[in-house]
Amino acid sequence: MITAVEIEAKAKELKSKGYPVVSLAIGEPDFPVHENIKKSINKAILENKNYYPNPQGVIELREAIAEYETKRKNIHINPDEILVTAGGKPVIFYTIFSLCNNDDEVILFEPYYLVYPYWCKVLNIKYHTIKLNEDGLIPKDQLLKHLNNRTRLLIINYPNNPQGSLMSKENLELLLEVLDKYPRIYILSDEVYSELVYEGEHISIFSYKKDRVILLESFSKTFCMTGLRLGYGIFPKEIIKNLVTFNSNLITGPTTPVQYGGITALKDNEVKNYVNFMREEFKKRRDFVYDKLKNFIKFKPKGAFYYFIEIPYDGLEFCNKALNEKFLALTPGSLFGDSFKNYVRISFANSIENLEEGLNRFLSLL
Ligand code: PMP
Repeated sequence: MITAVEIEAKAKELKSKGYPVVSLAIGEPDFPVHENIKKSINKAILENKNYYPNPQGVIELREAIAEYETKRKNIHINPDEILVTAGGKPVIFYTIFSLCNNDDEVILFEPYYLVYPYWCKVLNIKYHTIKLNEDGLIPKDQLLKHLNNRTRLLIINYPNNPQGSLMSKENLELLLEVLDKYPRIYILSDEVYSELVYEGEHISIFSYKKDRVILLESFSKTFCMTGLRLGYGIFPKEIIKNLVTFNSNLITGPTTPVQYGGITALKDNEVKNYVNFMREEFKKRRDFVYDKLKNFIKFKPKGAFYYFIEIPYDGLEFCNKALNEKFLALTPGSLFGDSFKNYVRISFANSIENLEEGLNRFLSLL
């Protein structure tokens, strides 16, 4: 199965050959990393902070994360509960790997981020998929039907990629009930888009049941640090100890200077204003796309930066045609689950000019 990153690589290759490519495929902010973050990374290098990091993450960074998340989640978080990783993706692998045995089952919700089923397959862990409603809600009857004594992990993602939906209060209550009733179950809550919310409130189950929820966060989207690879997981105590040893034996940690950049990202007021500015820009782009594609849109995203759109064609074929004939890169819906073969994902993490051009090509091909 091809990934969005691979589609983007193909688009870049065509572009380097001189083709007029517009890419609305990848979920990557087009804004530069803030100067203050860059300066901190450079300063760390110049001050010789180029040695192995603490395998759990540089302590000053973990303290900054603990402070930042304690404030956002309204629940006390200790630096010992945090594992700093190279982007958020490793947290997905670490969670499935540390919690699930081959007899266990994982529940995924469609449309899902394809890294979840990927790791279940590689680790030979059985998973069930439940289709979310169009507005991103978990259908209660379906969830209750799929739970059993082998269920070990539920993976949720709000704001959702690719739907842009938020967690509802009803779903929060439902999931809390499930955790009460099934003491073996943990929830991995992937919240990498938590700072990119345009309307409504981002509710996190982590705030309510931190001893049974793993929080996945990343610097990629909020701080445009996709290529700098910095993220973290906040884990229950019984899981994190072994993971630190595992991480230590695998990569030791993200590069030390980038971890110093992460401290500035979380603490610097100018960076905070920059994130607010970007959120406003993304909101404008979201509304711009809505005006252009109104007739095709069933759900206007409340967060993240994607539209997930049903088209009257096979999504994969359409995306191939779009790239080869119109030099427009899009992501086929089938990457997000079998129910979405006739869907495409359009990322609005792009300038209005590129969106205008890309959407004109999209409409002409439709
Ligand atoms: N979760 C979701 C839902 C994502 O969309 C992404 C990035 N596309 C990630 C996790 C991981 O991002 P990163 O590894 O860059 O932090």
